[in-house]
Amino acid sequence: MTGDPEVMSTDAPDLTGRVVIVGAGHAGGTVAALLRQYGWTGRITLIGEEPLPPYQRPPLSKAWLKGEADGDSLALRPPSFYTEQSITLRLSTGVAGINVAARMVTLDSGEAVAWDHLILAVGAAARKLSAPGAELDGVLELRTAADAEQLKRALGPGKRLAVIGGGYVGLEAAASARALGAEAVVIEREPRVLARVACPELSGFFQAYHAAQGVGFEVNAQVLGFAGDHGRVTGVLLGDGRTLPCDAALVGIGALPHESLARLAGCACNHGIVVDEAARTSVPGIYAIGDCTQRPLPLYGLSGRLESVPNALEQAKQAAAHLCGRPAPAPETPWFWSDQYDLKLQIAGLPYHAVTRVIRGDPAQAKFAVFHLDADNRVQAVEAVNAPPEFMAGRQLVGNRKPVAPEKLRDMSVSMKEVAA
Ligand code: NAP
Repeated sequence: MTGDPEVMSTDAPDLTGRVVIVGAGHAGGTVAALLRQYGWTGRITLIGEEPLPPYQRPPLSKAWLKGEADGDSLALRPPSFYTEQSITLRLSTGVAGINVAARMVTLDSGEAVAWDHLILAVGAAARKLSAPGAELDGVLELRTAADAEQLKRALGPGKRLAVIGGGYVGLEAAASARALGAEAVVIEREPRVLARVACPELSGFFQAYHAAQGVGFEVNAQVLGFAGDHGRVTGVLLGDGRTLPCDAALVGIGALPHESLARLAGCACNHGIVVDEAARTSVPGIYAIGDCTQRPLPLYGLSGRLESVPNALEQAKQAAAHLCGRPAPAPETPWFWSDQYDLKLQIAGLPYHAVTRVIRGDPAQAKFAVFHLDADNRVQAVEAVNAPPEFMAGRQLVGNRKPVAPEKLRDMSVSMKEVAA
């Protein structure tokens, strides 16, 4: 037991208030379920703009796009769950505003819904490319199940997909396109793919692997616009004067947090809705969780925005625990994953304070890990390709901040257990 007054408190928390959750994605769906699990008895209303109950987005660019997973397998929970748990689902419903003084949200229809506690799980939107022709049919984005349906229809043998942006969306979609027999070219404005999210060694490895699977690459490339015919895209116009022909163009150039509702409600925002370790915004009674937040990163003494499922789950736990008067969950090490072809990429930690990189394993065998070490040889992050032991031990090392011996880390004859001991 700690001396923390919140933990020591003997006052029973009031679990009877009305909770309204705006956003029925992974974060929103999870916090609703956790609140019931932690004993919340008051009304819970989950409001989502999309027509579907909460579902998982990661398969949309991977297994689902390749036809290896059906629609039902995307659902976070079976539809009956919400009735059984007395969670009121309001789908296909937009929220127009928040009245903090009256503790109400106003729906697009004009209806008002009262809350005692409000949780914003509003996510992020795909960044738009403002270029001539971006409105043509066949210029697509990938964020929702409906977007994925459109993309899937555009893929197949003999089709040509141009992907703008060499991030996770772009590379995963390119891999899925190849699996479906389509041609794919990735157009990236940085000198390397995955520039925002991975180290140069990993970028080089992934680009080479994709190239070996027949994906074309244009790096350091500028997209000037799209060519079209009868309202449908036929090509991507590049800054060097070339036009790359395509049947569809997927724009995967990042995501922007939905902040406007929170801003209008007076919540502090700074590249995301600013929250604390309990997912509280600057406005009492309002929480925010998931991709839309600018959150503390206690391991690094910084704040940041994490666009990942593990982050959505962690913050859902923080908000539900705080509301239900439970002890705060222990901080987690951020982690991410991506599946492309037979490659499983797993990343733990963030390389903010890293000064050196140590490679363990053999990229030529498609089985290796890159460890990012700080000046005291503590692991800040690990990027592992088909290397689960390196990922697991690396994640533990990021969390416990134990220094490691780089020469042992590099030596495959020394087990990860021994390195981490
Ligand atoms: P991303 O990871 O930010 O990658 C976008 C890439 O596109 C960046 O390298 C960016 O370069 C580049 N770009 C930006 N503008 C461009 C332009 N005009 N022309 C060519 N390239 C341009 O974003 P994303 O791949 O679109 O992913 C969106 C969201 O989905 C993120 O939240 C991502 O984490 C999430 N997601 C995650 C996974 C996963 O974790 N496995 C899978 C799919 C999606 P700059 O850095 O120069 O802007």
